[in-house]
Amino acid sequence: MDKDAKIFVAGHRGLVGAAIVRRLEKEGFSRLLLRSHKELDLTRQEAVEDFFHKEKPKYVIVAAAKVGGIHANNTYPADFIGINLQIQTNVIDAAYRSGVAKLLFLGSSCIYPKFAPQPITEEALLTGPLEPTNEWYAVAKIAGIKMCQAYRIQHKWDAISGMPTNLYGPHDNFHPENSHVLPALIRRFHEAKVNGAKEVVVWGTGSPLREFLHVDDLADAAVFLMDKYSDVPHINMGSGSEVSIKELAEMVKEVVGFPGELKWDASKPDGTPRKLMDSSKLATLGWKPRITLREGLTETYKWYVDNYNV
Ligand code: GDP
Repeated sequence: MDKDAKIFVAGHRGLVGAAIVRRLEKEGFSRLLLRSHKELDLTRQEAVEDFFHKEKPKYVIVAAAKVGGIHANNTYPADFIGINLQIQTNVIDAAYRSGVAKLLFLGSSCIYPKFAPQPITEEALLTGPLEPTNEWYAVAKIAGIKMCQAYRIQHKWDAISGMPTNLYGPHDNFHPENSHVLPALIRRFHEAKVNGAKEVVVWGTGSPLREFLHVDDLADAAVFLMDKYSDVPHINMGSGSEVSIKELAEMVKEVVGFPGELKWDASKPDGTPRKLMDSSKLATLGWKPRITLREGLTETYKWYVDNYNV
């Protein structure tokens, strides 16, 4: 991407979009097009078309989506499929029609079948049933991948898709019940430390394995793909390293500096035993993550303390 090109980062206030903006600004990209939800509602087709025809960005990164955990997915299935299909269809189509040179569509590892062999390769897509609790979101994201592929094939247009693993970092959702495990534990251990509690309860048995990628590494990989990748298949974006929830909980305890005990609540669900992506395609292209889990946790904890008043 050339430094003076107009780049539209859709969803710049979210975990992923904000990291991509930080990264692009750091590298000296000075013509970033950013629109808040209020300024541009991406579910409105006409508004999106007007925006693209007026602003004519050269590059587009689609990090805008309705996201949420199990609870939100179960409660608002219509929103998860409807809003995501609207956003991505409007943005991808308007980008193509207004002459955008290249577009990167970002999704998530939940596009893969529930029982896909681990580590999950790109080829596992559409080989089996999805995890029912997030199928609404997953079906929309799969449609986005297919739309990029179809536009590439029919229109010879440079649209690519990247599927990140579990992400964490600044601007994450630290809600006590509705967040993912890493921000949930940061908050719980911090509150326990501040309140002088004797123990912290962690859900499940601690044995499930999860892969984590710092969102700044993801932003780095996104810029890398914009420069280096131009092909039909979507591409996995993972760190390749996994930890057990037990190891993660102990690391968070240490980073936060909570002196008490750690207790397991096995009545809470463990979820899937292992979730690891095969990111060897991205590695073969020459990209690797830089931020270790411990460094990333330390920095994310600092961000949490600076930005949340508890
Ligand atoms: P998943 O990767 O889709 O299963 O999503 P989560 O990030 O919600 O959970 C990952 C694992 O962390 C599961 O085994 C949970 O049981 C475990 N876990 C432990 N404590 C917590 C917590 O406080 N919140 C969440 N969300 N998960 C927790």
